[in-house]
Amino acid sequence: MWTTEPSLNQKHLTCPFCGLACDDLSITPGDRGIESLDPKCDKAKQGFRLALQAVSRGPRSNGAPVSMEVALQQSVQLLKSARAPLFAGLATDVNGMRATLELADRCGGVLDHLNGDAMFRNIRVVQDNGWVACTLSEARNRADLILIIGTQCFDRFPRFVDRVLLPRESLFSPKAGRHLVMLGPWQNNRLPATLKDYAPITLHAHPSQWADVAGMLRARLGNRPVDSGRLGGQLAEGVEELARLLREAKYSVITWSAAELTFPHAELVIERWAALARDLNQTTRSSVLPLAGNQGDITSNQVCTWQTGYPLRTSLQYGYPVHDSRLFRYQDLIENNTADLLIWISSLDPEAKPPACDLPTIVFGHPGMELGQEVEVFLPVGVPGVDHTGHGYRSDTVCTLPLGQLIERGLPSAATLLRTLLDRLGD
Ligand code: SF4
Repeated sequence: MWTTEPSLNQKHLTCPFCGLACDDLSITPGDRGIESLDPKCDKAKQGFRLALQAVSRGPRSNGAPVSMEVALQQSVQLLKSARAPLFAGLATDVNGMRATLELADRCGGVLDHLNGDAMFRNIRVVQDNGWVACTLSEARNRADLILIIGTQCFDRFPRFVDRVLLPRESLFSPKAGRHLVMLGPWQNNRLPATLKDYAPITLHAHPSQWADVAGMLRARLGNRPVDSGRLGGQLAEGVEELARLLREAKYSVITWSAAELTFPHAELVIERWAALARDLNQTTRSSVLPLAGNQGDITSNQVCTWQTGYPLRTSLQYGYPVHDSRLFRYQDLIENNTADLLIWISSLDPEAKPPACDLPTIVFGHPGMELGQEVEVFLPVGVPGVDHTGHGYRSDTVCTLPLGQLIERGLPSAATLLRTLLDRLGD
């Protein structure tokens, strides 16, 4: 039974450490915080361990310990004197993001997430052309063919295999009849051990070939006269086979993690895969399933969208929201001296630190965060799902999961501190 009482004996715990937001975890308490997690997930274990073992050095001002009161007063002064504050990082829960938006609205701030580059590879495609997307549950229960693009989905979303690809139970599509096709540079990578016995179809293709593969598949499925042999050898044969499987599938799903697509204009590649799914819907059923949601990126983007009508990379400087995915990239605003104060919010991962820069900076940080460069004000905040309850969005954007509280060690949530600053700023 899920509970709002702090307890290390929780069952059906929701994990905040990747976009799958698995809600079936049980923790075994031990001397060092947790002894084990069931079901196993190394990423979750690491996230909970870092959170539970973190020993906060308390609020700091330019590296020196100060009281929370002094840290808050300094933050208020910095916010009052700022003309162009930048709210970035944004690795927090729903409440933390709501409070961030209220404060940014009050101060005339610009908002961007630390995963903004990856997020906007997907969002630009939706903005330009739209797409047919499915939920994790649809993929799990209905897909009879899943095409996985890239090799990093399994590291970024460690339980993707047992939660979605090959679950123990599936309502309409048993795993025995499900085709898995893996497209990526698998020559140099090992398939996850969980797929070892399943023998998925593997198409070795460098990322520079992914757009061509999508184009070739669209042409083959549209019966246009193209020569798939131009892709060369085994890949050409694999594409022919994949075209046949896609044509015959009753429900195909195309999935990727945009964080892996770090080459220029990656959104154009994603656009082709989305177009392939759209084409397939003329004769059968097909959807895309972009994997995201790590470090609260989907959560902060969803809250920003429902509150302002726009996704992140939105400015509230003009009295109304102005969105521009290229103009309001936080790294550029810092580099071009377009911002005069950085407010960095990062409560899920101690390694998600603010960028080194000359801007005065306020950090609302994970209690275990050690900064390379000290900042004007550092305020340690609780980890959502560990220090306080809350909500987080899953990768597929349709589902908000409740986060529990495991311990009480007096760390305030980011939302609490942000709203305190808002109160103190007054009108
Ligand atoms: S797969 Fe992701 S959400 Fe699930 S337990 Fe592991 S880190 Fe947590």
